[in-house]
Amino acid sequence: MINPIDAFLGLFSLDIGIDLGTANTLVYVKGKGIILFEPSVVAIRKGSNRVLAVGNRAKEMLGRTPGNIMAIRPLRDGVIADFDITEQLLRSFITKAHNRRAWVHPRIVVAVPSGITEVEKRAVVDSAERAGASEVYLVEEPMAAAIGAGLQIGEPAGNMVVDIGGGTTEVAVISLSGVVLSQTVRLGGDEMNEAIVGHLKRKYNLFIGERTAEEIKIRIGSAFPLEEELEMEAKGRDLVSGLPKTVTVSSEEVREALADCVNTVVETVRDTLENTPPELASDLVDRGVYLTGGGALLRGLDKLLASSTDIEVHVTEDPLTTVVMGAGKILDELSVLREVLI
Ligand code: ADP
Ligand code: MG
Repeated sequence: MINPIDAFLGLFSLDIGIDLGTANTLVYVKGKGIILFEPSVVAIRKGSNRVLAVGNRAKEMLGRTPGNIMAIRPLRDGVIADFDITEQLLRSFITKAHNRRAWVHPRIVVAVPSGITEVEKRAVVDSAERAGASEVYLVEEPMAAAIGAGLQIGEPAGNMVVDIGGGTTEVAVISLSGVVLSQTVRLGGDEMNEAIVGHLKRKYNLFIGERTAEEIKIRIGSAFPLEEELEMEAKGRDLVSGLPKTVTVSSEEVREALADCVNTVVETVRDTLENTPPELASDLVDRGVYLTGGGALLRGLDKLLASSTDIEVHVTEDPLTTVVMGAGKILDELSVLREVLI
């Protein structure tokens, strides 16, 4: 028999899809769409672990905190480095998603990296439950991305998804609603930012922050020669004089700085292709490869990947939201898509 209280709560239940990324967390609410898109950053007071800010407000504090405050990215390298802080992050976003109505107990689909361990899975489920979820389902990110991109994942045919996030790059081949093979490297947009920081340090004795490096990458970064090369000014601190300094940076030198990271991504894709069973590999030749995650937005990466694999490369419509849209679609069709859950 249905408990009347459960039935009552069910009336107000909100189903939620979450992309718990290393750089960004997105929340999709059934019937409403994406209602939250914020950095996966938590600011805490040192020693007490008391949370001061989460998301956008916490990201603004990165690199700008006084000694007693720390801004942390608990998922930074694609693994949950800090369970406690991850839970606080999830709780805060889930609470925001249902407008602080503490009596709402949503069903939640969380997209997690495919390389995640059993312990980490348990931690995500526990955190979501403690944050108020009535039921928690996990889906592998590449599967969510494939569904979000509208690929026909249920057919006996291979689909390849390459998801370049902040901390990791995941390459997966999907067929018959399952991940046939996948490969994850701990390299993504963060490492590209670090490469830009390193380049400016070596070439101009200029020390820039991570956020400035990210801005350079987004504004003028590329993986393939541009029709019109770009440049911009970068502000930082002179390593010799210690004073603020500005230099002009070109897209050519940024491309050069990013080359190692970009090549690792290309090699990982090639490696996965080489390990793909022949029938599925021939499907990939017909269907192409789908590039997603924020790193997919790097100019010319699709071109470079296509020219070094001889396979067509498509960038998903909105690479930063593809995974959470997939999680949302799973909620909408839970009865049909249940088989993709892990
Ligand atoms: P995650 O899933 O790990 O949270 P995302 O898919 O949200 O990661 O992607 C975040 C990464 O994408 C960051 O490293 C960010 O710098 C990078 N990124 C965002 N936009 C661009 C762009 N236009 N060009 C290159 N990289 C980008
Ligand atoms: Mg992601």
